[in-house]
Amino acid sequence: MKKVLSFDIDQTLNVAKTPIPEEIADLLIRCLDHFEICPISGQKFDQFLIQIVNPMLERGVKPTQLEHLHLFVAQGTQYYRYANSTAKKYNLGAVSIKMTKEHPYAKYNENNWEQVYNFPLKPEEVAKITNAIETAAKELGFWEEDKLKKGDEIIENRLSQVTFSALGQKAGTEEKYAWDPDCKKRNQIVKRAKEIAPEFDYEVGGTTSINAITPGMNKQFGMNKLLKELDVKKSEILYFGDMTQPGGNDYPVVQMGIDTITVRSHEDTAYALRGILGVID
Ligand SMILES: [Mg+2]
Repeated sequence: MKKVLSFDIDQTLNVAKTPIPEEIADLLIRCLDHFEICPISGQKFDQFLIQIVNPMLERGVKPTQLEHLHLFVAQGTQYYRYANSTAKKYNLGAVSIKMTKEHPYAKYNENNWEQVYNFPLKPEEVAKITNAIETAAKELGFWEEDKLKKGDEIIENRLSQVTFSALGQKAGTEEKYAWDPDCKKRNQIVKRAKEIAPEFDYEVGGTTSINAITPGMNKQFGMNKLLKELDVKKSEILYFGDMTQPGGNDYPVVQMGIDTITVRSHEDTAYALRGILGVID
């Protein structure tokens, strides 16, 4: 019997870099009554709140359900869990509203989340990776600085990993899909970056991204931490991801021998979740 449903985010629960659709939010909320739910992705903590937690709040998730949601941030090199004591104080549902220009309706309160652990990269490691990827992309003609929106950046330090996003974070979805649909550009950048700074691992993910990490700090690291933190066995986990092929950022999970469902989009994930809930509900 599976106890944990674990999910990649981009292209597995959502259209890359956007909040999960209502249907996925509803299905995940129902799943929280039966499973521990563990999204694991290369993204930063705030993106987990914006893309996953917020839509679930909007669809009426309860604090008791959120206790079963575990956020494995930056490929699981950081782990956040819901801090119910704080939530009680704030009476979640009417929490203090965090309003920003980009997210005027954000309801989440980051104070309701407790960081359990964090394994950041050292500054000199960040500098080496940044140089390797930038050099590789420039040599190959894939450094698209002129296409960036104001204030955006191609290489971002996500603390536990460095991420290359060819068109930046703010580029439109369509533009991103069109940039490297067959992963050929990114595979070339990875090959060259590996020659320049071979001590790091480079993984292709999302639609325009490459994640660089110290060896072993990939989803396998995150999943091993998940096993320990949640006190479960590999056989009790079912994982969903779209990049399960060798070289993809979900592949380390496959290699661990964890049962994996390969999806092409959140529609596939919704289909599988409806099947799972149909059996147990
Ligand atoms: Mg993905």
